[in-house]
Amino acid sequence: MKTIFFYASVCITMLLCHNAAWAQRDWHNTDKDREVAADKDSITKKGYTLIWINKDPNFDMELKKRLIDTYFINYPKLAKYFNRKTTKTVTFVIDPDYEGVAATSGGVVRYNPAWFVKNPTDIDVVTHEVMHIVQGYPHRAGPGWITEGIADYVRFKYGVANEEGNWKLPDFNEKQNYDNSYRITARFFHWIVKNHDKKFVKKLDKVLRSGTYSPEFWVARTGSTVDELWEEYAGNPTI
Ligand SMILES: [Zn+2]
Repeated sequence: MKTIFFYASVCITMLLCHNAAWAQRDWHNTDKDREVAADKDSITKKGYTLIWINKDPNFDMELKKRLIDTYFINYPKLAKYFNRKTTKTVTFVIDPDYEGVAATSGGVVRYNPAWFVKNPTDIDVVTHEVMHIVQGYPHRAGPGWITEGIADYVRFKYGVANEEGNWKLPDFNEKQNYDNSYRITARFFHWIVKNHDKKFVKKLDKVLRSGTYSPEFWVARTGSTVDELWEEYAGNPTI
């Protein structure tokens, strides 16, 4: 629950990224981060580059390796399946000034090192965050719960250390709803993929990126509205 809470706060922060206050904080401009970085790197493999800017002198170098490895395992895979036009250069900033867990905007992911001190095995924060880069939805493309549900579905499917990080989809209960976001929505998507349409998430991601999403999407793909689907899911939520 704690993790869900923290991720929820990240989501809110991400939405705020679009406003002027965040723009003034130079979210995308990493020049200042670079100046004070304890450790900088640029790694390129098979056409994909990761720029590493670490502002925490105490950051664990083994963890650095694991975060970078996870980027190179998952980002090209997600780009290939969901969006080949996504940027080929991603920047990770280990930023002690950032107070959430992690947040992503414009090809830059900021991670709070304090989170990893408490949760050193939560490696697939990388998988969730880099999916946000692949998503690259235009402003107001669709509901935020779908964006976060897809990112957690992707973490569920592609995560390299979910078990080690004690991260899993929650059991269904009747208090849930599809727009609860994050893992609850991810579990619903997984059920739809299994029971209705293997390519559901791929197609949902695509209509959001093209700015053509509407509630009609659910009917067109599955024959049911999202509410009808949720009712069916609630009646037999086995995955
Ligand atoms: Zn997210």
